[in-house]
Order: sequence, then C-alpha cells, then structure tokens
Amino acid sequence: MEGACATAGLDEIYQRSLDCVHCGLCLQACPTYLETGRETSSPRGRVYLLRGVAEGRFAWSDAVTEEVYLCLDCRACETACPSGVRVGSLIELARAEVESAASRRGWRKQLEWFGLRRILPHRSRLHALMSLLATVQRLRLDRAVAAALPRRLRDLMELLPRVPAAAERAALPEFVPAEGERRGRVAFFVGCVMPELFGAVNAATVRVLARNGFDVVIPPRQGCCGALHLHTGDRDFACELVRANTLAFDAAAVDAIVVNSAGCGAAMREAADWLGEAAEAFSGCVCDVSEFLDRQGLREPDGRIEATVCYDDPCHLVHGQGVADAPRRLLARIPGLTLAAHDDPESCCGAAGIYNITHPEMSRAVLDRKLAALAAAAPDIITSGNPGCLMQLESGARRSGLAARVVHPIVLLDEAYL
Ligand code: SF4
Ligand code: SF4
Repeated sequence: MEGACATAGLDEIYQRSLDCVHCGLCLQACPTYLETGRETSSPRGRVYLLRGVAEGRFAWSDAVTEEVYLCLDCRACETACPSGVRVGSLIELARAEVESAASRRGWRKQLEWFGLRRILPHRSRLHALMSLLATVQRLRLDRAVAAALPRRLRDLMELLPRVPAAAERAALPEFVPAEGERRGRVAFFVGCVMPELFGAVNAATVRVLARNGFDVVIPPRQGCCGALHLHTGDRDFACELVRANTLAFDAAAVDAIVVNSAGCGAAMREAADWLGEAAEAFSGCVCDVSEFLDRQGLREPDGRIEATVCYDDPCHLVHGQGVADAPRRLLARIPGLTLAAHDDPESCCGAAGIYNITHPEMSRAVLDRKLAALAAAAPDIITSGNPGCLMQLESGARRSGLAARVVHPIVLLDEAYL
C-alpha cells in the first residue's frame, strides 16, 4: 500500500498467528514467562490469546490487554522460534488494535500520549524540558523534587542520567568531511533523545565515520523515528514520523543511513512493512553503525584501552536486526581491550522503550537477572548500542553498586583513535 500506513486489523493478526505450531521452544527465551511462569505471559500464550481475539473467541478484556502490554517487545522469542513467528510485530499490531478500539485508559495511556506525541517529536520542547531538568540537577534539587513526586514519577527521575552540558547538546554540523582517503558518503540519523542525553555518542559516531574515510551528511529536517510510537500502538503517528524522515533523507545520494540507536534502527529498517513502497529505498539504506563499520572494514585504532569490557546486546539489534557479531568484532580490534563474555547478553535489560516507566516492577526484575550476570563477569566497562539500554544499565549498575562504566561501543572506538 503506497504512501499510506498499512492497515493493521484482526485479519492480519489471525494470518500471522497461524505460523505458530505451539512447540514452546520460545518459552525459555521470554523474560516475562521466566518471571511469572504463566503461559499467558509467554510468546506462545500471547499468540494463542491474540488468535482467540481474532477468531472472536476472546474479547479485548483487561486481562488480554494487560498481557499484550506486559510483553517487552524484546523479540527474543523471534530468534528462538523455528517457525518464524514474528511475535513482536504481532504485539505491535495488537496494541494498534487496542488503541484504535480506545479500550485502554488510565495514567499509562495519558503519559504515553503526552510524552510521545507532545514532547518527543518536537525538538524545541524536548530541548526545553531537558534544559529545565539540567537546571534542577545542577542546583541539586532533583532529590527534593523526586521526593515530592508520586512513586511512578520518582522511579522515572531515578532512571534519568545527568543531562550533559549545553555544549554537548548543541546541534551537529550538517556536513563533516572524510579524513584521509575518502571511501564514501553516509547520512547520519541523530534521533530525538540522543542529541539531548547522548550528544557525546552522536559526536563520537560522526568522528569515527569521518576517521574511517566517510563524508557524513546530517540532514537538518530529520526527526524522531517513530519506534516508541509503534511499540505503544500509535501506528498512525509512527507512520507520519517515518514518512517525514523518508523525505528528509535522500537515500539515493548516500551509501547508507547510519544509525547508532538499535531501537531506531530496527524500526526504520522495517518501515517498509508499514508504509510499503514509499519507504523501501529509505528502509533498505538504514544500517547500524557497528554493522556498517564492520562491513566496510574498520581502520586500525592507534590508541589503547586497558579494560575488561562486557558487551550487552540491545534486543532490537540482536533480535530485531540480526546483528550480534559486528560490535564484538569491532571492540576486539581495540588494542588492550579484553572482551569478557557474560552469561546473559541477549536477554532484555528491561528498558524496552518506555516499559521501565509503564511497568517498573517487571522491568526491575528483568534487569536484576542481567545485573547478576554482569556482576559475575566483573567488567570495568559495560557497553551496549542503544540509549534506553544505556540508561537502564547505568541506573541498575548505580543501584546495585556495580562500579563499571556504562558506554556506547562507538565511544570506545572513538577513544581508541588518537
Ligand atoms: S517479545 Fe519478549 S517479552 Fe514479548 S513474548 Fe517475545 S520474548 Fe516474551
Ligand atoms: S511462537 Fe514459535 S517457538 Fe513459540 S510456540 Fe509458536 S512456533 Fe513454537
């Protein structure tokens, strides 16, 4: 369907649910099943519930809706499933159905709608909000403000990292030339939260790309990718955001649209699934920075990082985009760096978009499993390529007394170039 958001609908849910043969091979990969032990909180159980709704055997009851939203959309079940059931996209379709039936109400819905529609896609509003938060943090009022807030919002405050200095949040130039022998031209997707909270990661990404011989174009009219909207069921708004980005990026003029946020990258790569032909060129050009550099061949880093590093896979990179080895290969190229495996790299950290805000108890339980595995590996540095994961791991490490630094892999590569 060109130029329009593909219709979700119960028919599509029904058709996709038919792929499930109820084998149960996905169960042990599912964090919510491992926590609850409930079949209805497992991938197989959710597919069964959704098929029941599509067949008219179940209604969108509170119980069914709760299971649809309790899913982390981490897609670990998709990697485990031998039948190719795409549970994540089924869940997203189901959430779009729930939203269009307006059967979900309450504070979670209101918070999502306000934050995702009214703040996130508007760069100036997000910037103003972050500037306010920076002032509160600088004056050390954050504890006092948090103490006055309801528990849910207090938990949210605890998740937020320190807002970086204004210089780090400044817009990047529209063009950064390649260094040394020129190897190509890429566009860089900056994201919405990244420039405000991880401006240093964006700057490092551009430097590493330039250092590797790529001209970097940063289109000024680009905006939010729509991933969080899609995950929460606001499919129409997600489509609007992607459509704007297909116009902002000239896919034909670059070798790749490089992304350093796994959640954004997965959504943008799959945009053609929801927008059809209108997004095909754009989607086909999107590439995670680790995959891009690994494919192109990384120029040898000349510095050293003497540290033991645990790489933790972002769900939407390993399960959503099938990228697992590239970041590890790049990190292994840094002289002095020891890559240490930990026991639980591919499971969700519990961030899952805004899940850690809407489902704090489950999010924390899922995170605690991860932290136990990381603590056993005793790394100096924990690294992961997604802003939500970085915030979640950083806050978890702080809470549990884990002294490791938490950073994006591209920052380590940048530090490894003198
Ligand atoms: S997406 Fe994650 S939480 Fe949801 S059913 Fe699959 S494994 Fe479980
Ligand atoms: S989703 Fe896949 S792995 Fe899970 S029960 Fe169905 S067919 Fe088996």
